[in-house]
Amino acid sequence: TIPKFNGMSLTSKIMLGMVGGLVLGAILNMTGSASLNAWLVDGIFYMIGTAFVNGLKMLVVPLVVFSLICGVLGIGDIRVLGRVGGKSFVLYILTTAIAIATAILLGLLIGPGEGFVMEGVDTSGVTAAEAPSVWQVFANIVPSNPVAALATGDMLQIIFYVIVVGIAALMLGEQSEGFAKACEYMNDLMMKVVSIVMAFAPYGVFCLIARAFAKEGIDLFIPVLAYVVTLTGALLLHLFVTLMLILRLVSGLNPLTFITKIRPAQIFAFSTASSNATIPVTYRCTTQRMGVDNSVASFTVPFGATINMDGTAIMQGVATVFLANVYGVDLGMSGYLTVIAMAVLASIGTAGVPGVGLVMLTMVLTQVGLPIEGIALILGVDRLMDMIRTAVNITGDAVVTTIVAKSEGKLDHAVYDDPDAGIGTD
Ligand code: ASP
Repeated sequence: TIPKFNGMSLTSKIMLGMVGGLVLGAILNMTGSASLNAWLVDGIFYMIGTAFVNGLKMLVVPLVVFSLICGVLGIGDIRVLGRVGGKSFVLYILTTAIAIATAILLGLLIGPGEGFVMEGVDTSGVTAAEAPSVWQVFANIVPSNPVAALATGDMLQIIFYVIVVGIAALMLGEQSEGFAKACEYMNDLMMKVVSIVMAFAPYGVFCLIARAFAKEGIDLFIPVLAYVVTLTGALLLHLFVTLMLILRLVSGLNPLTFITKIRPAQIFAFSTASSNATIPVTYRCTTQRMGVDNSVASFTVPFGATINMDGTAIMQGVATVFLANVYGVDLGMSGYLTVIAMAVLASIGTAGVPGVGLVMLTMVLTQVGLPIEGIALILGVDRLMDMIRTAVNITGDAVVTTIVAKSEGKLDHAVYDDPDAGIGTD
């Protein structure tokens, strides 16, 4: 085991890293000289922060492959597999749709962007991305080359391929015993690799946050304050009210316990702005801290990181309302329904990596006929918004994972209710 020092749990140290990074970043933002920033912020913090995110990404593909094979073999029944897949898919789509509908309603209520004058804004460099069709999105789930899928980390293709291999192993029955043992060993091995990387988390998180806040241009927030406030409000509402209500009403679980246990994953998502890079942490939080069985989490966590983006969808909603107001366009009911449909579809087809929300926004805006140049307005504040919405994204993944596990009898209540579960294995 990784030794604990100062008697503090890893989770507390990560929190300390986050708060320390925030304070130092804010101080550097206000007082830092150019040379100090070049050396410290773009040198040391950049190096440690990027190395740490690379370390997290390094874990993702092998961890997903082996935990998912073990998951499929553990479920052992193709019908149950289909049921877990179906339930999580429906819940992911539903929560995303609820998220964006709330965002649009809140946006219409608050009305950010009304009376905004779009002058002197540099709109160069904003280009529209082509929205994939529904047919394309689903056709591309099947990888033509599984090795390429593994090499590029295409999560949906990897999940598809691994499930097919897992089913084949089930069909071979006894012959697969050795394979199953090997995968189990590889899964345990990968979890140990996760522990090694996690030991560096407090320092990685500290550097990532300090750099993000040192570089954040505070003056960029003022002109679009109404957008930032509405968006943050909608994100917090979804995180603390909607998702927690869904958890309570659908599965009867205690939301307060959930919020405490998911915190490390939220901090990782916040500091890396990448649901994909956070997969190992979301997986650990749901399995070791909440007691979700590997057979559910190994599938729903990577699946959710790719197709479920509640926070990103909320951003699409608020940004569309904001830009419609800026340009004085009334989108009407059908326009907003298009936004909902587009944002849900776009979230299925795009990976959870930093800044992808803006790319999705170009698709949404094109669909409803708003000028995409408007994105230039919110570009400057997007990094911070990305950090917050990614934390919401992975919380949505974990909520659905817990609900599906509970409904399948794959949630260990003793672990869920134990406040110290998983902390010792940090
Ligand atoms: N960064 C987000 C994620 O990884 C996606 C986005 O909204 O840009 O989930």
